[in-house]
Amino acid sequence: MSNGAAEITALTAAEARRALDARELSAIELTRSYLARIDRLDDEIGAYLHVMRDVALSQAETADRRIAAGNSEPMTGIPVALKDVLCTIDAPTTAASRILEGFRPPYDATVVNRLRRQGAVFLGKANTDEFAMGSSNENSAFKPVRNPWHRDRVPGGSSGGPAAAVAAEMAMVSLGSDTGGSIRQPAGFCGVVGLKPTYGRVSRFGLLAFASSLDQIGPFARTVRDAAMVLQAIAGHDPFDATSSPEPSPDYSRALSGDIRGMKIGLAREYTADGMEDGVFAAFNSAIHRFRALGAEIVSIDLPHTEYALPTYYITAPAEASANLARYDGVKYGSVETASTLRETYARTRGKGFGPEVKRRIMLGTYALSSGYYDAYYIKAQKVRTLIKQDFDAAWSKVDAIVAPTSPTVAFPLGARTDDPYQMYLADVFTIPANMAGIPGVAVPCGFSEELPVSLQVLGPAFAEATILRIADAYERTESWAARRPQIAAAG
Ligand code: GLN
Repeated sequence: MSNGAAEITALTAAEARRALDARELSAIELTRSYLARIDRLDDEIGAYLHVMRDVALSQAETADRRIAAGNSEPMTGIPVALKDVLCTIDAPTTAASRILEGFRPPYDATVVNRLRRQGAVFLGKANTDEFAMGSSNENSAFKPVRNPWHRDRVPGGSSGGPAAAVAAEMAMVSLGSDTGGSIRQPAGFCGVVGLKPTYGRVSRFGLLAFASSLDQIGPFARTVRDAAMVLQAIAGHDPFDATSSPEPSPDYSRALSGDIRGMKIGLAREYTADGMEDGVFAAFNSAIHRFRALGAEIVSIDLPHTEYALPTYYITAPAEASANLARYDGVKYGSVETASTLRETYARTRGKGFGPEVKRRIMLGTYALSSGYYDAYYIKAQKVRTLIKQDFDAAWSKVDAIVAPTSPTVAFPLGARTDDPYQMYLADVFTIPANMAGIPGVAVPCGFSEELPVSLQVLGPAFAEATILRIADAYERTESWAARRPQIAAAG
């Protein structure tokens, strides 16, 4: 491929938008460049479960006609990867599970529909941990994803595919879902920006449910500005999702003023877990100096119930998952493995269709919800969840936002934690509290440790996406981490 094509895939979505509207670039050219990169690189990375080549090319042609007619919207002609937990009418949707192999949804998820109406180009369905359960993408029933910065490292999870696709320039932006960190943690491991919106900010209609009180869809991008652009396209009320908020969305891009002087940014002493790597600590600390240099005031705060977030999550999320996954019984959904009795049909279908981590979650959740244990586990977890939320509520009376490392470590080696679920769960120790409280968080690259990306997250009060994006963007302007590309991308 020519260098020209490689440079095209290095454009940010904002740059591509300008070039498309100025007709210096066509959507078809852009889409072909991405498809060519996927063809060349994805055998090695594994970011896609299904490439939507024909759909993408036809969407790109339509986008070019629309641009020519002067009718473009922000996402018109922008190549996007969709995590394979989002229903798409024109592509299989499997949640990286054998139980849904070959499933074609009869409708689009609302986020997919919104992007489609804006004229976005769908490159394909991106790999994930099975049913979004995992922190390394090694729980995909089909194949693992490799980290574009280091092929022997995990990309993070569960949205490892969407994160790696953006990092390796096999998608301009992508959508993932974050139930306990699954956007922010892989964004961090892959050196890209990842935003988990407020619970209710983005419709969950057509998202294959994992834990319904926690799940939230959000974007991956190479810059904060691009993440804001995608959020704008997908945010807002949806009558098909009763938990989606009627709160109007502000203009997120306009919030990116670069000016955070006088803003109060909280630093919580609880966000220093045992096992935080020195390189992560060092990069995070130098970012704190940057925030000070930008004129923000750093304020110490307490989030005393932080240590309970992980155990509370591992009661709540499996409990909800055990209920949500009951529908995959081989009758309504799922590959049918018939037997002489209905019970045996269920048992065979679910026994063969679900992988070990999904089974572990179903068993944990069923136990936590069972009679006699419900009060001791599930109800107790809900009470602790309220305490975690109250910690944040108290913090917002003192600060505008909170910064913390996204993960205690950089991307770990493939296979390093697969035999130890507890170690795997610890990868989310800093991301899970935001899900428990329903608040938004954006992960942004903040340096490198041994050639692997380090990330910080900016958390804010409910519906303060504009504030956290503004802070993350101001920081991003001072540090050009995004300009550093993984070798696989630069060599493209
Ligand atoms: N890693 C966490 C889990 O395994 C979070 C997953 C997610 O956010 N989807 O549950």
